[in-house]
Amino acid sequence: MAWDFETDETYQKELDWVEGFVREELEPIDLVVRHPQDLQDPVRQELIPPLQEEVRRRGLWATHLGPELGGRGDGQVKLALLNEILGRARCGPIVFGCQAPDTGNSEILAHYGTPEQKDRFLAPLLAGEAVSCFSMTEPQGGADPKVFTTTAVRDGDEWVIDGEKWFSSNARFASFFIVMAVTDPDADPYRRMSMFLVPADAPGIEILRNIGLGGQDAADGTHAHMRYRQVRVPATNMLGPRGDAFVVAQTRLGGGRIHHAMRAVALVRRALDMMCERALSRHTQGSLLGDKQLVQQMIADSWIDLESFRLLVLRTAWKIDRYKDYKRVRADISAVKAAMPRVLHDVSARALQVHGSLGLANDMPFMWLIAESFHMGLADGPTEVHKVTLARQELALHEPAPGAFPTGYLPPKEQAARERFAEVLERHGR
Ligand SMILES: Cc1cc2nc3c(=O)[nH]c(=O)nc-3n(C[C@H](O)[C@H](O)[C@H](O)COP(=O)(O)OP(=O)(O)OC[C@H]3O[C@@H](n4cnc5c(N)ncnc54)[C@H](O)[C@@H]3O)c2cc1C
Repeated sequence: MAWDFETDETYQKELDWVEGFVREELEPIDLVVRHPQDLQDPVRQELIPPLQEEVRRRGLWATHLGPELGGRGDGQVKLALLNEILGRARCGPIVFGCQAPDTGNSEILAHYGTPEQKDRFLAPLLAGEAVSCFSMTEPQGGADPKVFTTTAVRDGDEWVIDGEKWFSSNARFASFFIVMAVTDPDADPYRRMSMFLVPADAPGIEILRNIGLGGQDAADGTHAHMRYRQVRVPATNMLGPRGDAFVVAQTRLGGGRIHHAMRAVALVRRALDMMCERALSRHTQGSLLGDKQLVQQMIADSWIDLESFRLLVLRTAWKIDRYKDYKRVRADISAVKAAMPRVLHDVSARALQVHGSLGLANDMPFMWLIAESFHMGLADGPTEVHKVTLARQELALHEPAPGAFPTGYLPPKEQAARERFAEVLERHGR
């Protein structure tokens, strides 16, 4: 029977190295490099590529990918254990070749790309020499892709893309976009759209505005409101079959969601560690904060939140490795996706509270962590939609009660039990 919660010794040694590397080399980079995806930033270009080289030398570059894509096929459980360390540093995933949204984008390129598309778009992405952007959400609606209106119209050997997109992350750094557009307006709602690879230098692409998040300086915004104005791409730039954009998007989003969750474990751990350190350092009204039962309750609740979330993430990763079919783990991924913002929010908010006024200050990361929890409750689909998916999948496993009363109604069960054990009950006078 296999039911094992231990990391094998060899991999643990690699993780121990990563732990030190992240603490000593990567966390300081976060304090001087604003956008680790910005390949035009000379400071970034001087500091990050040598670290990527070191990771490659150790064989830890994009380890979750198969050897045909330059990884070593470690799979999702090992990636989860790695990401729960890397997630501590913003630049961590970039230094190790497993950053969003590029991981999801490379996943669909690997799955659906033609050999030419793989050469042109996937190879530089896997080498860490390009940054990509997934451009799907539109200003009039995100959670319901059926309302998207961006069109792609065939003109000879080209497609002409026209429309607006909203919250296209990393658009300002991207060398290409994966754009979802309506190609078959009269088809079934789930077959109307196709996916396109659009190079960033194609004429007609305009970033109307880079949107900053919760308190972020406007100049730092990385989520673009975009306009595609008569953007022409060759017909060969369609990614996946015509009309299959929903299927292609789901292939990407399953992995993307679980990878975010793996990194979120690192953030929650960081908040809990900081909460404990403060509880052991700060005296008030004659005792340490850590001696006060209400603070102890915050620590205990946070531990339970973290460890139960982490186990759910690891079990989901294990199921992905085992079944190699995202559809089969849809409910698990939705559960992880819905739990993630709540756990990150609650633990970060408790950590902030235990730090008092200092916790609220920009000098500490708690407000950013809380803003991140909202990011996680929206990006890749809102929590409510994931709860609906999860509930529907669970309901599909059940049957309605055969009569007016539920099958758990006790009186007939008690009656049946009394009849079955009548002899024994009689012998004992009951
Ligand atoms: C930080 C961040 C990064 C993002 N990056 C990208 C990106 O790179 N590319 C991209 O294409 N998109 C991106 N998005 C967009 C994201 O996918 C959308 O925000 C998400 O799909 C929700 O769409 P919306 O914001 O339009 O909200 P809406 O669709 O307007 O939904 C608003 C709210 O309505 C409620 N709601 C919606 N549907 C239901 C339902 N079925 N049942 C119950 N309640 C419901 C929920 O509370 C939801 O939060 C990003 C978003 C964020 C926040």
